Amino acid sequence: MEQSQEQAVKRQSGRSETVDVAIIGAGPAGAVAAALLRHAGRSVLVLERQHFPRFSIGESLLPQSMAYLEEAGMLQAVVEAGFQYKNGAQFVWRDHATAFDFRDKHSPGWGTTFQVERAKFDDLLIRCAAEQGAEVRFGHTVLAMQPGDAPVLEVADESDARYEVRARFVFDASGFGRVLPRLLNLEAPTGLPTRAAIFSHVRDGLALDDFDRNKICVATHPERRDMWFWMIPLAGGRSSVGCVAEAAFFDMPEAAREARLRALIREEPTLNRLIGDAPFLMPVRQIGGYSANVERLHGPGYALLGNAGEFLDPVFSSGVTIALRSAQMAVKVAERVLGGEAVDWHAEYDVPLRKGIDTFRAFVERWYTGELQDIIYYPRQTPMIRRMISAVLAGYAWDESNPYVADPVRRLNALHEACKTL
Ligand code: FAD
Repeated sequence: MEQSQEQAVKRQSGRSETVDVAIIGAGPAGAVAAALLRHAGRSVLVLERQHFPRFSIGESLLPQSMAYLEEAGMLQAVVEAGFQYKNGAQFVWRDHATAFDFRDKHSPGWGTTFQVERAKFDDLLIRCAAEQGAEVRFGHTVLAMQPGDAPVLEVADESDARYEVRARFVFDASGFGRVLPRLLNLEAPTGLPTRAAIFSHVRDGLALDDFDRNKICVATHPERRDMWFWMIPLAGGRSSVGCVAEAAFFDMPEAAREARLRALIREEPTLNRLIGDAPFLMPVRQIGGYSANVERLHGPGYALLGNAGEFLDPVFSSGVTIALRSAQMAVKVAERVLGGEAVDWHAEYDVPLRKGIDTFRAFVERWYTGELQDIIYYPRQTPMIRRMISAVLAGYAWDESNPYVADPVRRLNALHEACKTL
């Protein structure tokens, strides 16, 4: 990747360097943070242990994320990349079916987005950040960090040569790598049961009137309301398909995964009809125990972005949106720190970021109890309430003008009661 003339990472005696902000991980959170910091004129070094393009799960974006891509100067590249357009979500359970169109929503802002192959999407974002002057090193793994006013990272390249990076600030955007939470013992309980997913891509062969490709399909298993499937149509006639259940349900040898996913797809009538026989395009993968939380999203000289901080659950496709939102918010606060201001990270980053995460949490918890499913399928919901729910499903989980954001637990509980009694 080309280095910009503006690049200001200073090499000192070969094995120690200084930079304004060092970022661990080049996923969506790291890429957007890097671009925004470059806009502010800061020197940025992104350290990424893998080589891109690389596979990642998390393929259905939410419209709210478009605003952050736009702010980071990446929107045009994303729009021009030819990803599958997305405008909503289709939910299915037994003979119930309901679609949310994200353009019809309570909150202002984007109502459409994309369903993306993450290998291509993540590569595109980090290239945009590099074009804006961030230095990106692939194949460089962060091993340790000394926190403090001037944090120091210990890094290994692929030949295991070690060097230090001295930064004025560090962002941990290492996703499920969770580098700083592990190194600094920041992990906290999630309060969510341990769940897992098995998934693959299929050659979908969907005809135009079979299914609206512009929507993610979220289908609940006919007999188990806490088990659900995603089908995410992607560009080029392929779809991502996966099944989520309690982790113990997927306790099986790797060789059994493909047959298990095929059998599960056949148990859900809509997916069976659409892709029951569709060939898998890659080995069926499994990921489990992905929910994570931390005591705090910041510490001396560092902040945690995206999944490195918290991850709830895939059901509402909120992961990338939260990752981008965290990057955008953390850069604003870090900018003030770099400008010499004293900043209260708890009040100005943790609390406002967690507001939206807690909105999603209230929705996720009630999804698995079945209450949110009752709400979604309730046939006499008022258009106003549907627009409020639609806004949260579109990712506008921080817009407190929406009562289901301002007070999600109380509102959802009351709504569920009303759906039962009306
Ligand atoms: P990542 O994208 O994980 O990037 C982190 C990067 O850090 C990686 O490239 C990694 O190699 C690098 N790294 C790790 N450790 C180190 C180290 N020591 N040194 C250097 N680099 C390091 N989200 C959605 O928005 N929509 C969905 O439809 C969706 N579906 C999902 C389905 C499942 C089953 C799961 C588990 C998650 C899903 N998600 C979804 C969530 C989504 O995958 C994540 O929220 C998103 O990828 C987080 O982005 P990130 O930038 O925080 O981290």
